[in-house]
Amino acid sequence: MKLLNELSEILFPSRCFGCSTLGPNICSTCKKTWQLKLYRTQIRNIEVFSSLAYSPTAQRVILAAKEDGVLPADLLIASAIGNSLRYLLSVSEMGALVPVPSRRSSSRKRGRDFLSEITHRVGNSHSLDVHQLLEHRLRVRDQSNLNAQQRFENLAGALHVPQSKVTRINNGKNLILVDDLVTTGASLLEAKRALEAAGFNVIGAVTAFVSTPLR
Ligand SMILES: [Zn+2]
Repeated sequence: MKLLNELSEILFPSRCFGCSTLGPNICSTCKKTWQLKLYRTQIRNIEVFSSLAYSPTAQRVILAAKEDGVLPADLLIASAIGNSLRYLLSVSEMGALVPVPSRRSSSRKRGRDFLSEITHRVGNSHSLDVHQLLEHRLRVRDQSNLNAQQRFENLAGALHVPQSKVTRINNGKNLILVDDLVTTGASLLEAKRALEAAGFNVIGAVTAFVSTPLR
């Protein structure tokens, strides 16, 4: 196994996600911009706990996890979400974790739902249940070119909790939303709306990254 690890290190040497230097996944220089902190953002009626400001390095880490399934990228995101979660739990009640689903077409293309896997990883290390309650109702077009208001309208009513899941999991249960990045908060607000419409109680949200200031 050791030999295999060494061999794979020769064939696929690891590089820094920030600057592509050979070596650790976050090199000592880039580590200066990768310090887990606490960001608390109130977006309408939901409080969001995040650990890192969104940056070019963060963007590359998310892409590596999302598009290429790179395990060290998953672990970096899981550790940042875990840090945000510890803060939320220090000021709030316990709750089960609910990943915010990515658009169906993109997760089908990738063959896995990276955020769901990361959320299970975080749930395991904090002994919290994970429930994948949310599903897409409408096809949402790529919203990267939309402003905050357009995104909100685009997403309104986009998510729902299928009836089979409502009956299987107790209504009124406390839930914590999990996402990789909060930008406008539109996805989190829509997730909260859909869960509360199904009778659940959303106590807050945790993300790895926050784009500051919120666009
Ligand atoms: Zn670096």
